Amino acid sequence: PKDAVRILVTGAAGKIGYALTPMIARGIMLGPDQPVILHLLDIQPVAESLKGVRMELIDAAFPLLQGILATTDVNEACKGVNIAVMVGGFPCKEGMERRDVMHKNAPIFKAQASALEQHAAPDCKILVVANPANTNALILKEFAPSIPVKNITCLTRLDHNRALSHISERLNVDVRDVKNVIIWGNHSSTQYPDANYATATTDSGEKSVRELVADDHWIDSEYINSVRERGAEIIKARKLSSALSAASAACDHVHDWIIGTAKGTWVSMGLYSDGSYGIQPDIIYSFPVTCQKGEWSIVQGLKINEFSREKMDASMKELTREQSLAYSCLNQ
Ligand code: NDP
Repeated sequence: PKDAVRILVTGAAGKIGYALTPMIARGIMLGPDQPVILHLLDIQPVAESLKGVRMELIDAAFPLLQGILATTDVNEACKGVNIAVMVGGFPCKEGMERRDVMHKNAPIFKAQASALEQHAAPDCKILVVANPANTNALILKEFAPSIPVKNITCLTRLDHNRALSHISERLNVDVRDVKNVIIWGNHSSTQYPDANYATATTDSGEKSVRELVADDHWIDSEYINSVRERGAEIIKARKLSSALSAASAACDHVHDWIIGTAKGTWVSMGLYSDGSYGIQPDIIYSFPVTCQKGEWSIVQGLKINEFSREKMDASMKELTREQSLAYSCLNQ
């Protein structure tokens, strides 16, 4: 039998945490033959609720779940973890501006970076979910200099999955038959859902989505807006933000990173830019990637037209502004 993998979930008593932890314990993240030990972290005010989550996880008797550590001590929580899913963060409440959220979250990520650096397993892989996800990931990178930058990522997979499912609904094909959409940029309203390389497999074989949809206005406008606005639509309907789809996307992200992407298929991940596609090299930006043996690599050589360039750059500019805002929050 395989050794158990230790997985940290921060904000574990929150809504995403409640959906995510049973998925991990059931083997959705790392596969049906990989035992796991969950490290659950949350803050003191919700310590009782965290205990409740722990009890429920025990009661579910998940065969793969070999242990649960539930704690409000960040150093204890990070000890020996192989994977860290950073969900905990101060939520964007009504009337709050992005600047206010940054003020709350920048110091949290600074502290968690130090704890991970000191206590996590040497090759720990990190996925940041809490918003602003790209910038929180950048702060984490800044304050955990000994963690390889390739191990620090943020979630844009929910946007990627939404993009796939929007196309699947439009074309009336199974979602598994749609592939290679891209989310470029920030996990925010400036993200660019790009369907230019997407394909769908129908009875007549694999074809370009643009060709199958045969409506450029839909691809270049409606589709982009509906992917960008889906989160707000869910909040309107549920009076709560998306949690099960965010948790499922977090599992997909880590699963594909560690187990690998299918041949000929890519996914979107927020990564420390290496300058590919003219994106400034010191920000966390979402790119198309393939993964193999626990390593991602950015898909290279895609032709970028003027329309895409403009949208990719707009999101890059937003991220550089966010980054300097975050640094100014930390220096105050
Ligand atoms: P959720 O579990 O719903 O969300 C957690 C974080 O994920 C938020 O920052 C949220 O951003 C973000 N997020 C990213 N993508 C998505 C998405 N697609 N849909 C929804 N959310 C997304 O929040 P809860 O308030 O239920 O739980 C947060 C937990 O964090 C609580 O248990 C709380 O105690 C803990 N916490 C920890 C802190 C710390 O460690 N110091 C500080 C504050 C809270 P957004 O708000 O923009 O939706």
